[in-house]
Amino acid sequence: MLITCPYCGPRDLSEYTYQGDANRTRPDPASTDQAAWNAYVYERTNPAGDHREYWQHSGGCRAHLVVIRNTLTHEISEVSFARAELNHHAAPRRITGAKA
Ligand SMILES: [Zn+2]
Repeated sequence: MLITCPYCGPRDLSEYTYQGDANRTRPDPASTDQAAWNAYVYERTNPAGDHREYWQHSGGCRAHLVVIRNTLTHEISEVSFARAELNHHAAPRRITGAKA
């Protein structure tokens, strides 16, 4: 199986590390809802078809990726940087001490 890294191009699966389901949503860190945390930590779907997954190009540029892979055929239909999703949800960073 080949995964096309946006930086490095097509590379063999042996260069990548699977990092889990990319569909989960972490509960609020202050939440004490045990059922929500239990679901987040332990419950997984096992879809037959397209699945969003986190992969790291650990044997290459070390980028974290979101890969959409068909679990039946292993065909990969999309690869993108995971940081694009994370930055979308992150608060803007402030740099102190910088001169304009
Ligand atoms: Zn790469």
